[in-house]
Amino acid sequence: MTKQRLVILGGGESGVGTALLGKAKGFEVFVSDKGKIKEKYKQVLIHHEIEWEDEIHTESKILNADLVMKSPGIPDKAPLVKQIRDQGIPVVSEIEFAAKFTNATIVGITGSNGKTTTASLTHHILKQKLEVGLAGNIGDSFAKQILEKNYPNYVLEISSFQLDDIVGFKPHIAIITNITPDHLDRYNYEFERYIASKFRIAENQTKADYLIFDADDPVILDWLEKHPVQSTLLPFSLVKKIENGAYLENKTIKITIDNNSIDMPTKDLALEGKHNIKNAMAASTVAHLLRIRKQTIRESLENFHGVEHRLENVLKINKVQYINDSKATNVNATYYALESMDAPTVWIVGGQDKGNNYQELYPFVNEKVKAIICLGVDNEKLLENFSSMVDVIVETQFMSEAVKIAYKLAQSGDNVLLSPACASFDLFENYEDRGRQFKEAVRNL
Ligand code: ADP
Repeated sequence: MTKQRLVILGGGESGVGTALLGKAKGFEVFVSDKGKIKEKYKQVLIHHEIEWEDEIHTESKILNADLVMKSPGIPDKAPLVKQIRDQGIPVVSEIEFAAKFTNATIVGITGSNGKTTTASLTHHILKQKLEVGLAGNIGDSFAKQILEKNYPNYVLEISSFQLDDIVGFKPHIAIITNITPDHLDRYNYEFERYIASKFRIAENQTKADYLIFDADDPVILDWLEKHPVQSTLLPFSLVKKIENGAYLENKTIKITIDNNSIDMPTKDLALEGKHNIKNAMAASTVAHLLRIRKQTIRESLENFHGVEHRLENVLKINKVQYINDSKATNVNATYYALESMDAPTVWIVGGQDKGNNYQELYPFVNEKVKAIICLGVDNEKLLENFSSMVDVIVETQFMSEAVKIAYKLAQSGDNVLLSPACASFDLFENYEDRGRQFKEAVRNL
């Protein structure tokens, strides 16, 4: 029998993981990347005798495929992808491909903000009692883990780009954390298309599967009303009582599933901020569904201290708390960061604007922000929006300088918050680089 030809577009973490799994499952694999493949991935491909090319796409070979796996970074509008589709070659994402080779119970987490935090927290709780892997946009690719570990349970962080190319994939438990405009450049600047993409997480679910979602999010509610799903719904809310799902009562999270309730006081949560109560509700609902005991969930919520670059407490210097929220690459994430500030705040903001509308931040800036440091190549929009609201607003293009200015402006009891509300690519390699530079500058003070 001739082998099925699997072509993989993109030689990054998900591409190389899929290549390894594909080869092990008997495919003839070819990896093609228009950019440069990182040395560590090249070595893996060479070691496993997988054919590859980089800085070129050889069309004749690619269009000869039986199946194409497209890495999430490659946009649909790329001419080659169009050609592949026009020829009727099926195109799938890594999770679609990899999920075919496991019977694991899958928890799939998507949303505009809070995916990594919620996925990490869910994994943290579940791993106390279950054998469970964490994959998706985090750490080793799902495909590679299926090959090497094949845990009976997986928590997957799933971006909309991964969902764009699913066919039959379904998580047994899905979470949609929230939906606000992001990445619209990949969706023809149509918010509806982006929402539809997020909801694909539930498209193959049946009544036996669960969809956990933020019932305070008008975008989600509106969509569900117009596009009902088969899944059993488990909403969570901070403001209204929920019969089946999770809600907040007297600062306690109550979760009820089929008349079986558990509760967790929010004062024990290690993570701060309202958004993290939501993340905790979603993660604990999964744990309750998978029969983790209340005490274990409580303890796990108490000792989970968050993920790097997400409202990460860096250091306290002269009674000033320095907080790294570099992962806040959009306005909504920064909204929650500012909301959770409990002291006067020196705010470092700015970077590459994504068509930001800052209006929703005005009340917090008026109430909590004492000074703004604009850290971007182009700060015009920030100056326009906020100059009249604070006494001090300055510009710089260097992290070390931004932190030094913040140090001078902050007084005992204040916070210094890096929460940029923008992408990082104008001055930094990525948000991790930006966060690390911030932490280093703080440590050098
Ligand atoms: P994602 O993986 O979806 O990008 P992260 O967990 O990495 O989400 O968090 C991204 C940013 O959003 C951080 O600045 C974080 O503080 C903020 N954030 C976390 N959870 C939420 C939430 N539920 N709603 C809004 N913002 C959130």
